[in-house]
Amino acid sequence: MIASAALVRSAEEALGPLQTARFLSWWDSQVAATDEHERLRAEAELMWSDALSDRELFGAVVDASGRTGDPGVARSLVLLRNLMLPHQVPHALRARIVELESAVETRFSRHRGVVRGNEVDDNEIERILRESDDSAERREAWEAAKTVGAAVADDVRELARLRNEAARTLGYRDWFALALATDELDEGKLLATLAEADRVTVEPFARWKTRLDERLAARFRCAPGDLRPWHYADPFFQETPAEGAVDLDPLFAGKDVVALARRTFDGIALETAGALDRSDLYPRAGKCQHAFCIDVDRAGDVRVLANVVANHDWAETMLHELGHAVYDLGFDDRLPWLLRCTHLVATEASALLFGVLAGSSDWLEHVLEVPPAECGRLAGSLRAARVTELLVFTRWVLVMNAFERALYADPEGDLDRIWWELVSRYQLVTPPDGRMASDWAAKIHIASAPVYYHTYLYGAIVALQLKDTLEAAAGRIVCASSAAS
Ligand SMILES: [Zn+2]
Repeated sequence: MIASAALVRSAEEALGPLQTARFLSWWDSQVAATDEHERLRAEAELMWSDALSDRELFGAVVDASGRTGDPGVARSLVLLRNLMLPHQVPHALRARIVELESAVETRFSRHRGVVRGNEVDDNEIERILRESDDSAERREAWEAAKTVGAAVADDVRELARLRNEAARTLGYRDWFALALATDELDEGKLLATLAEADRVTVEPFARWKTRLDERLAARFRCAPGDLRPWHYADPFFQETPAEGAVDLDPLFAGKDVVALARRTFDGIALETAGALDRSDLYPRAGKCQHAFCIDVDRAGDVRVLANVVANHDWAETMLHELGHAVYDLGFDDRLPWLLRCTHLVATEASALLFGVLAGSSDWLEHVLEVPPAECGRLAGSLRAARVTELLVFTRWVLVMNAFERALYADPEGDLDRIWWELVSRYQLVTPPDGRMASDWAAKIHIASAPVYYHTYLYGAIVALQLKDTLEAAAGRIVCASSAAS
């Protein structure tokens, strides 16, 4: 028993600093995508991978598993094994994967689409897709959002081949199966959950989508059958267009989204000031255009990267990322390093729980300070909008999951065609006529957060359970006193 505990402690002492170095260099590469940062990041990533590839240590971890009576040590051994398993492959293969992942992410961070001759960022593309009534301009913006796909597709396909090679070396069917196994998810249960999610959403989604298309057709003065992907309000139709919900953006015009997010957490006595101070929150050239929260050292250095502009989406995203941050900051300092993290589904649930507040009447009234009478008027449609959001989101998760399963089942397959088949089937979106492009590769998760998307679906389910529990115990999540702070 003592030997197992000592083994875990010495592994933690070796891995903790390497993970911190790796996360710091990753952070640098995301806030400024320079060649130097890409190189340093790949170096740190490889040092981390080298440490995890240690065969002797891995053998000792496997031997010790199941032999300890201490539940903390037993859990640490499981986590260590899952962490180390994907790295038990030849150095050259690991090095090639790290190098490609770094290169692809750098290209994502640097890439900007072109609309009407001007380079535009994702925020500008989304603005056009929300506001423009000009179908030609919308099409150009949508196509601009996909050009990054063409720039990275070959490398993403190669990454899938290499990841599969690694998984097969370890005796797994493919990377999809290995990723689920090391995330402690049962593939049969996941597929059953997704099939059930498909079954219960297929009809309500189709009904809602028909009404949405009628409204969009009226707006764009065309027949519903002439609607194409650029007529929806974001490049992947993963969010609800204002026509199908409530347009909250006007309420956010001129507001300080970061201050609102901070005030939300202040109201329930969760500290976010330190994390916000370390964060990088506004758009800039050469910076990752997405959003994430990272726990750099499991000892308080938690940061958020975002590209905030004053709209509802970014309010939701800031609440989401700070929902991760407060979760990471909430670990008991006395826990050993390996145990200062929990399953991805749990942290995603915390993030989703807070993110959706930006669309709740309680939050609009008490944090954004929208007059109570207006919130009262909005309350019914906000609830309906939330239902719609979950429908749209679930259909999108079904696309992503089915696509990644197909990608890893056969990286040589006709992925461009498979992508549009899935989009048509699950999202009921008509593909652009005769389009031949790797639009799937424009979704950054496929390259840099592989086999992750189901975590959002499970997270959303757990978030609803947390919400019910919190409301039963405390009445509400938004604290009225927050408005005064
Ligand atoms: Zn998240």
